[in-house]
Amino acid sequence: MAKEVVLTGLRANAEFHIGNYFGAIMPMVNLQKKHAGRYQINMFMPDLHSFTTPIDHGKLYEQSFQNLKVFVAAGLDTSNPDTYLYRQSYVPAHSELAWILDCFTGFGEMSRMTEFKDKSEKIGSERVTMGLFNYPVLMAADFLLYGARWVPVGEDQRQHLEYTRDIAQRFNSQFGDLFVVPADNTKQLEFFARDEPIRIRSLRNPERKMSKSIDDPAGTIMLSDDPAEAAKKVMSATTDNEAVVGSPTFNKRPGLANLLQILKLLNPAAADDIGNLNYNEFKQLVANHVSIFLSDLQSKLLAVNDSKISQKLTEDEEAMNEVANKTLLKVQKAV
Ligand code: AMP
Repeated sequence: MAKEVVLTGLRANAEFHIGNYFGAIMPMVNLQKKHAGRYQINMFMPDLHSFTTPIDHGKLYEQSFQNLKVFVAAGLDTSNPDTYLYRQSYVPAHSELAWILDCFTGFGEMSRMTEFKDKSEKIGSERVTMGLFNYPVLMAADFLLYGARWVPVGEDQRQHLEYTRDIAQRFNSQFGDLFVVPADNTKQLEFFARDEPIRIRSLRNPERKMSKSIDDPAGTIMLSDDPAEAAKKVMSATTDNEAVVGSPTFNKRPGLANLLQILKLLNPAAADDIGNLNYNEFKQLVANHVSIFLSDLQSKLLAVNDSKISQKLTEDEEAMNEVANKTLLKVQKAV
């Protein structure tokens, strides 16, 4: 019997910071470690989703490739036979199926998507595109083309998963068994058995989460930062007025708790016996580990073999076109 499909997207544009590394990249690498063998793992780069809001198009192609390299440097195994890596735009069936699903999707149904309401409020109604409105439909196509049963969606995507299940069932009851219906949210949560999600805070403003460096350059450690510069950012991180580290919590001493969280992620053993350190000693320790981590990751990144990745993409995109086109053809015949 064919293996059930686990499907997940690897962000295509925008550079990564250490929040992305621990909150998104490592969970993906671990997902592969845990599920390859029993499951087929589809990891795709949703490059068509990348410009539902304006981006620098001169960078999209290179950035997608660069991001994939970061995943590989972080431990993603490109030679694993159960794992398929592909770019969404290299499998045209995604857009074709999205159109067909569009014509069976209510305008009202899409208008209720809270993610759309939130995003469009943020960017202002003039700049809201049809693409932004439509993207849950493209997302449904991303899942349904491959019969994906397991998709690790975050809280903000739950509604889109529900829509995907609805539209799949709608098609199946009108046209016969066309689609595998992804598992519901409760089962997804059980399947992925997610720990409490990691949330790295800004070094300058520890009440807020770390985010893209243009918004907060001194508070954000980018994976491409010079290790010595990153160490300086740690040294000038916002803390508080206590004398020694003790056992800080996010409620009471968020700056310290954030640095401690980062240290534990980088090297759990280094976080033993730090209670009596003064702030300067403690920051020095964290800065040191941050700088070691970045140097190490950056040299791994330099060692990633571009042509091996290109070859993997070419092979997998061919295989995925075959799978996707089969599903699409069934749907085309049905409609
Ligand atoms: P973003 O760049 O904000 O769209 O984030 C992409 C993904 O990276 C999110 O879905 C999160 O899983 C993860 N992420 C972003 N910022 C952080 C952060 N500060 N701490 C932990 N994870 C994060």
